[in-house]
Parts: sequence; C-alpha cells; structure tokens
Amino acid sequence: MDFAEHAARGEDGARTRRALPLEVLASLVLHRLCLPHSFAPHSRYRDGAQGIALRTIAFMINLIKLLLLATTVVGSGVWIWRTTDPDPKRYRASLSPQEIQTSWKRAPWVISELACLAKAAGLRSSLAFGIANAGAHYSPFWHRVSISRAFLARLSDTDLRLILAHEVAHAARRLQTFSRCGAIEEELAADRAALQMTGSTPEQWAEAIRASVIAEPGMAITNQLALRAEVLGIQLEEP
Ligand SMILES: [Zn+2]
Repeated sequence: MDFAEHAARGEDGARTRRALPLEVLASLVLHRLCLPHSFAPHSRYRDGAQGIALRTIAFMINLIKLLLLATTVVGSGVWIWRTTDPDPKRYRASLSPQEIQTSWKRAPWVISELACLAKAAGLRSSLAFGIANAGAHYSPFWHRVSISRAFLARLSDTDLRLILAHEVAHAARRLQTFSRCGAIEEELAADRAALQMTGSTPEQWAEAIRASVIAEPGMAITNQLALRAEVLGIQLEEP
C-alpha cells in the first residue's frame, strides 16, 4: 500500500474516497516521519524485530520519496527562473539623460532589424522586443529578445545587428534554448548562424564583443566567450 492509498483508507482499512494531494503529503510527513509508529493505528508492521526492520525500510523509502519530491520542486524552480529571468539588475549600467534618450530613439530601428533577421532565420512567429537590465538575451518562455539601454545607446549599427542576429538564432532554436539554456553548444550554434545571417567575419564578431564589454561595464570576457572565439578561429583580447 503506498502512502496515497494509505491516506484514502479509514480505520477499518476500507476504501472510502481518493485522498487529496495535500492529505497525501500530510499523511507522509506526520504518520511516517514525525509521529512514533506506535501512534499510527493503520501500520501493518507494529510488533517484533521484523516489524522494526520493515518499518525502517518503509521509513527510508518514504524519505527517498520526500527527497525526490524536494529535488523536483527546487529543480523546476531553478529551471523556470533561468528560462524566464536571465536578467540580473546588478549589472545595469548608469546612463546619462542623453544616452537614455538615444536608446529610446534607437528602439524602432532595432524592432525593424529584428523583423528582418527573424525572416532571414525562417521564423514564422513574430518576435517580441524588450528592454534588458544588462546585455542582450533571448527569453524562450516569452519568445522575446531584450536589449539593454547601454547597448541601444552605445553600440554601432554593425555591432548591434550582429548581437541581434545571435539572439534571433537562439529564437530559431527555441525548444533547444528552453532545455539547454546557456549551454556552450547553443552559444556556438547561435554564433555560427549570426555570422551567416549578417555575412560577418569572425573578426567583426570579436569587435562586437569588445564593443559590448566597453558599453556595459558589468560585462567581461568570460572563459565561455574566449572558448567561443577559439572555435571561430580567433582570439579575444581584453578591451
Ligand atoms: Zn547566446
């Protein structure tokens, strides 16, 4: 009898109704983990050494179930956070009022570029545009490309187009981006597609990365960026 069934039975063991999920959880925690087993009136294993051994096994099985449940809940939370909010506020650059104004004026150009790149990448659904706290990222959950005001105000058209193309390439692999968010293979695939879409060279890619690091003081040449450059056959230097 598993704990779901256990919770659904009355004192005499007769099946009465299906247990609600909350009751199942309460039954697991109270009867199996917290209360001494002599308090549990429906325990099948109450007497003797064999009973103690069986109770210990039952306790261990329920403990493993509880740990699995906790891991699933925490893991799901982390996964949802990574796919919906990869945009930390702490990296946000401080901009002058004039730069903020420039970023507003640049938005329509970015939206039309996104539409062109999405068409080039063969995307059938339209991509949303948003303002990021820092850098640029694609959110597969919202199917949205977000660009920071620092990028909008400080990057050249060529550099920004290449960065947009990289994010559009993630959008074209939406399902893979969902499941392997931030994986190096996904970044490499997006880099290759971005170069192809924009007809850029690896050197232009490196220049866009350098310009991004200068534009956004919270960004740096990470090991992953250096590895991506290596795969493209170039070396990234600190700006
Ligand atoms: Zn990427």
